[in-house]
Amino acid sequence: MELQKALGLIAEVPDFPEPGVLFRDLTPLFADPAGFAAVVGALAETVGPEVDLIAGVEARGFLLAAAVGYARGIGVVLVRKPGKLPRVAGRVDYQLEYGTASVELPAGIVSPGQRVVVMDDVLATGGTAAAACKLLRDGGAVVEGVSVVMELTALGGRAVLEGNGVHALQAC
Ligand code: 5GP
Repeated sequence: MELQKALGLIAEVPDFPEPGVLFRDLTPLFADPAGFAAVVGALAETVGPEVDLIAGVEARGFLLAAAVGYARGIGVVLVRKPGKLPRVAGRVDYQLEYGTASVELPAGIVSPGQRVVVMDDVLATGGTAAAACKLLRDGGAVVEGVSVVMELTALGGRAVLEGNGVHALQAC
């Protein structure tokens, strides 16, 4: 399937998770084998030959990172919400519009100097991806870039991630 057609499978859901937010729902894309393959193939091309590890951000980033890692023969590390990992290497807290959130890295997975790409479905304000990048750097990794399916340009995530190469299959 052509990439543009695959990206067309992403649904727009108004007023989720709160009034005024237009949520991009990737579940129809994940459920379509040809569409998913097209997006995974395109994301795999954003990962350079020097990359040692792909970091998937919970939860949809896990699906993408696993598929791309498998396609490229690269291992995957999980960037998780707090309280899920039995052994934690580090944690980064970050601001949301209301309140805070955190991401954690499993212990003993990332080696100093390993080159990592962060992968997620949507880049919005950039807070999550920036926290994932900091978490990985704190763990000794070299962040080679951030790859997402969709970038919501109005929310300014790319500027927040200044210094990290952002690859988005679609910007809107
Ligand atoms: P940010 O931290 O950049 O504001 O938000 C990005 C994170 O929130 C990502 O982990 C992403 O999965 C989730 N997110 C924010 N907005 C959307 C959206 O419209 N659709 C989806 N699928 N995820 C979103």
